Amino acid sequence: MLKKHNFGAGPCILPPSVMEKAAQAVMNWNGLGLSILEVSHRSPEFEDVVLKTQLLVRELLSVPDNYAVIFMQGGASMQFSMVPMNFLTAEKKGAYLDTGYFALKAIKEAKLFGEVEVIASSKDRDYAHIPDQDYNNQQAAYLHCTSNNTIEGTEIFDFPKNDIPLVCDMSSDIFSRKINVSDFDLIYAGAQKNMGPAGMTLIIAKNEFLSQAKKEVPSMMDYSLFRDNMSMYNTPPVFSIYVAMLNLLWLKDQGGVNGIELQNIEKAKLLYQEIDRNPLFKGTADIEHRSRMNVTFKAIDKEAEVAFFKFAADQGLVGIKGYRTVGGFRASLYNALPLASVEALVNAMAEFEISYSRKNVTETA
Ligand code: PMP
Repeated sequence: MLKKHNFGAGPCILPPSVMEKAAQAVMNWNGLGLSILEVSHRSPEFEDVVLKTQLLVRELLSVPDNYAVIFMQGGASMQFSMVPMNFLTAEKKGAYLDTGYFALKAIKEAKLFGEVEVIASSKDRDYAHIPDQDYNNQQAAYLHCTSNNTIEGTEIFDFPKNDIPLVCDMSSDIFSRKINVSDFDLIYAGAQKNMGPAGMTLIIAKNEFLSQAKKEVPSMMDYSLFRDNMSMYNTPPVFSIYVAMLNLLWLKDQGGVNGIELQNIEKAKLLYQEIDRNPLFKGTADIEHRSRMNVTFKAIDKEAEVAFFKFAADQGLVGIKGYRTVGGFRASLYNALPLASVEALVNAMAEFEISYSRKNVTETA
């Protein structure tokens, strides 16, 4: 069994039972005498996996019948281009909410395909909050937002409400909390946080919205083509889809999205409480927009930061380094991270407070 507490932002931790079943399937899948890695994606057994995975997505997120569930490749990053390539026209521009690093990447790509309007930004305060917006320009093909800002540690709890089709990058908080799918026209998410290993991208889209997509796009960028071919227009990422299915079955056993949301609230609360209590640390995001998935915080100074990294590593706490452009710490608390790991981090912070303060007193004495 793995012994480290993995707070990595992605690819992230998966439940041990899922790892075990995935390992078994690599050796001999369902007693077929074949590895999941070599099985034909056109076999009835694998078609069944795709169908089951789609049904699990529908069930866990209560996806309405008029929405398609599609698996593609290229990560969320490919969606940054695919969305504008399909939906921007000479008449209609893309409206974007700028909430951080990945939102900016989406904006950059969209500019290759048409006009882009940034309707609100939180750049002025280092993306520590979600900006207010009140946009309802019918000249927009869609409004794009990022539900959870993986690097900056902020999360949208009130999604924009207007008449413009809402497109959302949910890569880092999908399946972590309840959402109302019918509030969105298109949702996309890279798999490698709460869904499974990297390699597949989930798209949930309203069929009516997809019917407005441009016709002249490359086949590999054509949502409807993938929908109509059961996500198997070309060879799909078989292993990623299979492990996602195992992981979604695990999620169902946790009481589904409702059950896991309660656990996620408890984990995040515990860690933020310690950040707010401990004089050696401070949170970086505004309290009302703090992410439950990626908890970002800093130490009071560089010396304490370096010392805590070592202290934490010695206790098997890994993956807590903040993103290179932001610094500090980031503890990612995705679905599969157990409460015990958060308790271990919180205890380490409290112990560090005592040992670090004692060391500083001795040194200055
Ligand atoms: N959007 C968000 C919110 C992300 O967290 C990430 C990756 N961590 C991406 C997009 C890019 O995803 P991918 O690596 O799957 O392209």
